[in-house]
Amino acid sequence: MQHDFDRIHCPHCRKMYRMSDLVYLDENYTIVHQKCYSPYVIFMVIDRGTYREILDRHESFHELIPKKGTI
Ligand SMILES: [Zn+2]
Repeated sequence: MQHDFDRIHCPHCRKMYRMSDLVYLDENYTIVHQKCYSPYVIFMVIDRGTYREILDRHESFHELIPKKGTI
């Protein structure tokens, strides 16, 4: 059961992230597609990269990384 849905959907376009999507991470730890970025829908950007890179770099997202052998 996924209990933290907001982290795997873009709050702007509502699509689920793919591991290769280019995203920004803001200071509230919200992930937003780089193509969806707007100063009005995101706070200060603290990191950027692919969705997979952001998950890897930030420990609070490690629960969202697929376990080995599930993808
Ligand atoms: Zn989006």
